[in-house]
Amino acid sequence: AASPSKRYSITLLPGDGIGPEVISVAKNVLNLAASIDGIEFKYEEVPIGGAALDLTGLPLPDETLLSAKQSDAVLLGAIGGYKWDKNEKHLKPENGLLKLREGLKVFANLRPATVLPQLVDASTLKREVAEGVDLMVVRELTGGIYFGKPRGFGTNENGEEIGFNTEVYAAYEIDRIARVAFETARKRKGKLCSVDKANVLEASMLWRKRIMEIALEYPDVELSHMYVDNAAMQLIRDPKQFDTIVTNNIFGDILSDEASMITGSIGMLPSASLGESGPGLFEPIHGSAPDIAGQDKANPLATVLSAAMLLKYGLGEEKAAKRIEDAVLDTLNRGFRTGDIYSTGTKLVGCKEMGEEVLKSVDSQV
Ligand code: ATP
Ligand code: MG
Repeated sequence: AASPSKRYSITLLPGDGIGPEVISVAKNVLNLAASIDGIEFKYEEVPIGGAALDLTGLPLPDETLLSAKQSDAVLLGAIGGYKWDKNEKHLKPENGLLKLREGLKVFANLRPATVLPQLVDASTLKREVAEGVDLMVVRELTGGIYFGKPRGFGTNENGEEIGFNTEVYAAYEIDRIARVAFETARKRKGKLCSVDKANVLEASMLWRKRIMEIALEYPDVELSHMYVDNAAMQLIRDPKQFDTIVTNNIFGDILSDEASMITGSIGMLPSASLGESGPGLFEPIHGSAPDIAGQDKANPLATVLSAAMLLKYGLGEEKAAKRIEDAVLDTLNRGFRTGDIYSTGTKLVGCKEMGEEVLKSVDSQV
C-alpha cells in the first residue's frame, strides 16, 4: 500500500444492542476504502449509552466527550435497550447522545433518503414514483420551537390551563445552517429547496430572508422555496424533484422521517450531524434493535454508509466516500442481503458476512 499521506483520529462509539456489531463492520470498510488513498486512521473506542452506564454510572463519561471533541470525526453505532428503560431521565442511555450532540455543538443534521435500484420494492411508494429518488434533508438541530423561550404551562384569561412554546430563530442560526445546506447541495446535484411557513410565521419570514441573502454566496446552487404543507405533499407525490432540502428543527424532524419511509429500509439509512468547526457525528438512523442484538442479524450498511458520510462531509475525502458507496451498490448487485432487506432470489447473509462482501467489493475497485 502507499505510505500514509494523511492521518485522522476517529472516536468510535459502538454503544448498545447491535451497535458493536455494525461498528466493527464499518471500521473495517472505512480502513480499507481510505487506505487506497493513503489515508490512515487512529481510533479511540470509548463507551457511551447503556454500555457506559454499566461501566461508569454515566451515559456520557467525561473521557468519552473529551475523546470525541479531540477527534477529527465521531462514528456512533446505536444507543439504548430494555435494561436501562426504567432509569431516571438523566441516567437514560439516550441522554448520553443528547449530551454528546450538545458537547459537539452540532447544529446541522443531514439525512439522505436514497432509493437504491436493488431495493426499490421496499419503498412505501409505487415503483414509478420511488425509482431514482436521491434526496438529502438538512435539518437545523439546535434552535427553533424545541428550545425557544418562553415555554411552559400556565392559565389563560378564562382560567383555562394552557401549554405554550416559542419558535425563535436568530439570523446567525439561519445563516450557519444555510451555509451547510448550500455546501451540501454543491457536493450533490446543486439544487436546494428551502422549506418554511413564511406565509404565516415571522420566524419563517426571517428564515426565507436570510436564506436568500446567503444564496448570493452560492450563485452556482439553484435555490427554490416551498411551504412545509406543500413539501410534505410533494415528498409523497413526486420525491424525485428534490435534491437537497433545508429546513428548521421541527419541520425537519417530520420531513426527514417522512423521507426515510420513502426508502422503506431502516437498516440502510445513514446520518451526519455537523457543527461550525470541530468533529462531526456520524450514525445510522436506526436504533439499537435489541430484538436482534448479538445474533449476527443486523444490517451493517446504514453504518457503513455513515462511514462514507464521515469521509465526504466530515473529512472532505470524497473519493474514498464514493468508493464505499459504490461497494455497497456492488454488494447488493451481487445479491447479498441481510434479513431486513431480504427478498426471494437473493442471498441471505448475517452482519459479519455482509461486511466481508462489502470489503471484497471495495477491494475489487483497486
Ligand atoms: P430508537 O432506538 O431510535 O427509539 P426503535 O427502538 O423504535 O428506535 P430500532 O431499534 O431502530 O427502533 O428498531 C426498529 C425495528 O427495526 C426492530 O425490529 C429492529 O430489529 C429493526 N432494525 C433496526 N435497525 C436494524 C438493522 N440495522 N438491521 C436489521 N434490522 C434493524
Ligand atoms: Mg431502540
